[in-house]
Amino acid sequence: MARSVNGKEIAREMNDKLRAEIKQLVTGDANSPKLVSISAGKKSADADLYVEMQRKASGYVGIEFCTMRLPETATESDIIEKIKSLNEDKTVTAIIVQKPLPEGIMHDAVVGRIFPEKDAEGIHPLNLGRILRNDADIVPSTPGAVMKILRISEVDLYGKEVVIIGHSAIVGKPLSLMMLNETATTTVCHIGTAKKGSLVKHALQADVLVVAVGKAELVKGDWIKEGAVVIDVGINKMGGKIVGDVNFSECAEKASIITPVPGGVGPVTVSILMRNVLRAYRKQNVKN
Ligand code: NAD
Repeated sequence: MARSVNGKEIAREMNDKLRAEIKQLVTGDANSPKLVSISAGKKSADADLYVEMQRKASGYVGIEFCTMRLPETATESDIIEKIKSLNEDKTVTAIIVQKPLPEGIMHDAVVGRIFPEKDAEGIHPLNLGRILRNDADIVPSTPGAVMKILRISEVDLYGKEVVIIGHSAIVGKPLSLMMLNETATTTVCHIGTAKKGSLVKHALQADVLVVAVGKAELVKGDWIKEGAVVIDVGINKMGGKIVGDVNFSECAEKASIITPVPGGVGPVTVSILMRNVLRAYRKQNVKN
């Protein structure tokens, strides 16, 4: 039976460490780190919950958290204008643009206008590109959380067969590069793999299987190699409950380590976001 990762506990420890670092760093009349969240359009309960988690974590670690909400009628250039002024505002450390945005506004396009050193989520093209050269310090928050969980769980990735299901630009693709940087043998699967019928064949090879698809309980127990590490990134609603992309009870029978949903990758993702804000603050305020 697998050991279930306690993401809340990992997040708590990270947040305690961040809180101590921020307390030490912000002395005298220096400004605290400040994270500005931009939302636009209709309210979404899920997005609001995520923003509340960010607010709570920020308050705990000592980051000032401010929200800006633009109306449904906001255009891409309205959001870009806001970003431009926040880029220039010396009291603003980092910016996050929440999803979903009103129809027709590309999240990538607006995030690309944030100064890379103020990119809270680590998804500006420059920060993503730095992963290629293994010198990223502001990292995409969810892949960063997966790497943190593996490190804390003492999973040595060197030479391991890692299979990632999902190839989005914010999760699967950057994570595959971060795994390569740890000298893992990395395979990325996606909808094309599923359509070709070879998803299970690949999953069964995995020493470490990461699933980031957005399909409730897609991965079944008979997809898992005995003793594999299973990391479930998915967040789905099923029968009024939040579930992952992995059938937890079936897969836990085979795996050695598994992350639950909720309470696995999610809380750690918020802590990586906080860590990014601190790293951004250091870049902007601490001269070498
Ligand atoms: P996305 O929609 O951008 O990408 C989905 C990926 O899954 C694509 O690569 C697609 O090709 C692949 N895919 C779709 N159907 C498939 C199938 N049947 N078989 C195999 N592959 C398939 O999604 P995303 O933004 O990367 O998010 C994925 C999931 O992770 C979602 O449930 C999202 O809510 C969750 N998520 C969680 C966190 C967190 O912090 N825990 C953060 C981001 C995303």
